[in-house]
Amino acid sequence: MQTYTRDAGYQFKLEEPLWLPGQISIWTFHHVLDKDALTKQIMPIPEVEIDVDKLEQLIVAFLNDGGQFLSLDAIESMERDPNVSYAVMTLDDGYLNNFDVALPLFEKYQVPACIYITTGYPDGEITDVWNTLNRFIFANETISYVFEGEVHQETCRSLAKKRQLLCRVYTLIETHIAGDDKLDFFAAMQGNRTPITLSRGMSWQQLEVLAAHPLITLGAHTIMHPSLPKLSDEALARELVLPKRRLEQKLGIRVDHFAYPYGHYSEREATAVRAAGYQTATTIDSAFISDFDTLNPYQIPRQYINANLAIIRPGALVLSSISEQLNAEPVVE
Ligand SMILES: [Zn+2]
Repeated sequence: MQTYTRDAGYQFKLEEPLWLPGQISIWTFHHVLDKDALTKQIMPIPEVEIDVDKLEQLIVAFLNDGGQFLSLDAIESMERDPNVSYAVMTLDDGYLNNFDVALPLFEKYQVPACIYITTGYPDGEITDVWNTLNRFIFANETISYVFEGEVHQETCRSLAKKRQLLCRVYTLIETHIAGDDKLDFFAAMQGNRTPITLSRGMSWQQLEVLAAHPLITLGAHTIMHPSLPKLSDEALARELVLPKRRLEQKLGIRVDHFAYPYGHYSEREATAVRAAGYQTATTIDSAFISDFDTLNPYQIPRQYINANLAIIRPGALVLSSISEQLNAEPVVE
């Protein structure tokens, strides 16, 4: 595999092109950020975010090259032209920016998309810890929090200090504070300017709009976003069956598609996804889809696209660039 070094000194791998004639590529995104979000960002996490302008460039480059977007439901049955490149847009987790920022872009170019929902977000069972902290630390110059009964007070005026504090408090929460106690931890956090508000992804009201939207397919992505291979058989079944039922009952739709959190799966998980009644499950094993006869519908590959995406020759060749250090386990889902 070729590598090159960008100005900042990052080492990148040049991966395969994002589209090829006669082949289907399923693209994976998470956060889609607008200017406002980018200016309020203390520290980027390139593995799980893309600038909306860059996503638009990618869509335009693909369409200018004669590419066609497909919905996930259409890929198996459609007749394929060997000269045309196909892509399926997918987004994981169900973040609020999928609704506010990505949807208008998809409408502008009529791009169908599948959004995999982690139902713990709309149900208020889990919190997006990183983004909750980012917003709070960005908006305040001093913050205080309680850990092991002791009050800690911190000043964070500079970006460097905010960065340091964000990483420290995030690690503290994720390593020491259990599920339900995170809410108590946040409730006790104080800032000198702005009170804390929890980041929780899309609400059920927004999901209702998406459920009725002709471009959007909703899939499931567990309740709590665990790494499935670590779960007992009972816990695994719960994380597969309950979010499907919840989305179907709450939104009056059928939920046929599932995506493995972190792309973690083995034969056991693939079998359990089938048993839970899903028609497909997507991984993040990077590959093009050329032959459906040999494709396991519960191990569908997807290309993982991140903020380091480089459009090297617009309309001709697009490569996904992933730095070495980013190949480690994602810091946040
Ligand atoms: Zn995820």
